[in-house]
Amino acid sequence: MKINIFGMFVEEIGEAIGPYGLPKFRAAQIAKWIYQHGIDDFENMTNLSKDHRKLLMEHFVIHRVSTQAVQQSADGKTSKYLLRFHDGMAVETVLMRQTYGNSVCVSTQVGCAMGCVFCASTLNGVTRNLTGGEILAQVLYVNQLLQQEEQHVNTIVIMGAGEPLANYENVLKFIRLCHADYCLNLSYRSITISTSGLVPEIDQLANEGLPVTLSISLHAPNNEIRSQLMPINNRYPLVEVLAAANRYAQQTGRQVTYEYVLIADVNDQAHHAKQLAGLMRGRLANVNLIPVNSVLERGLLRPSNKQVQLFEQILLERKINVTVRREMGTDILAACGQLRHKNLTEAKVIEASDL
Ligand code: SAH
Repeated sequence: MKINIFGMFVEEIGEAIGPYGLPKFRAAQIAKWIYQHGIDDFENMTNLSKDHRKLLMEHFVIHRVSTQAVQQSADGKTSKYLLRFHDGMAVETVLMRQTYGNSVCVSTQVGCAMGCVFCASTLNGVTRNLTGGEILAQVLYVNQLLQQEEQHVNTIVIMGAGEPLANYENVLKFIRLCHADYCLNLSYRSITISTSGLVPEIDQLANEGLPVTLSISLHAPNNEIRSQLMPINNRYPLVEVLAAANRYAQQTGRQVTYEYVLIADVNDQAHHAKQLAGLMRGRLANVNLIPVNSVLERGLLRPSNKQVQLFEQILLERKINVTVRREMGTDILAACGQLRHKNLTEAKVIEASDL
């Protein structure tokens, strides 16, 4: 059995190649070939001797992702990729070309166990965790596409399918790899991790000393509504999540983002906005309002633009930092793992076989 070298830290590569007589310092060269130059074939690692290349070929493989399907939004700004791993499992990865740079949204699990009622990723539960390498492979896939246009990935949002803090070690490995100088060399600040609110892991993350941006999926101004929308609220109620987010803000000095999916008549009324403003008062916080991508099967509908504006206004009047998420790629259902559960009629679907 050959060993998959993709997803290893440079130190791990050093340990892996040592037994085959390759000096450890070769690890940095190999890491750069894999992560920065997109090389899959050891034969092309031209600063290694022929003998070393042969040894690597005999004992190691490089597992990336392959393209299962691609969708482009009509405006060309959002691209969604269904990417397949070595075992045949596939996840969604999204590229958003924003005015401030190229942002990639990665998945951290195949499916999700959290059971939020508005989310399509969780409909079939969780199949498995992704490894750090599998999460990184999604980013490098997009980065390689961008490199063809002399661009690259600027920011990463860990907001695709899965609950990242339920796959803690792998997600941390991914984040550290993104930061490594032999890999993407990204600052921690350009990485955002979004969680449904696993309190012990939020604290654990705060203690890592990595200034990644934390985003909390709040979605409700009180316990009652939050428990209806998000089963996790029964384990870690709203006040505990807010307290953990405060500790995170204090420890890292980073402003926390609160995501709030607006669902017509469920959590989008004026009194909800007032209650939310009360919760946010005095916090180092930014509220991100997201008009829900309707889930018709569950009767959850997007509020009118007028209602969204009204909600925003109430927060603004109370001096709460608030933004309404620019909806990108809604025509290709890019926001939240809906691809696998809908028939795509309007979006342009390119199957891998056409590429
Ligand atoms: N499990 C993590 C990360 C994945 S979900 C979390 O809960 O934060 C990423 C974001 O997409 C979350 O804020 C989630 O609530 C949101 N989302 C899920 N379904 C959605 C939908 N139908 N419309 C809009 N946003 C949705």
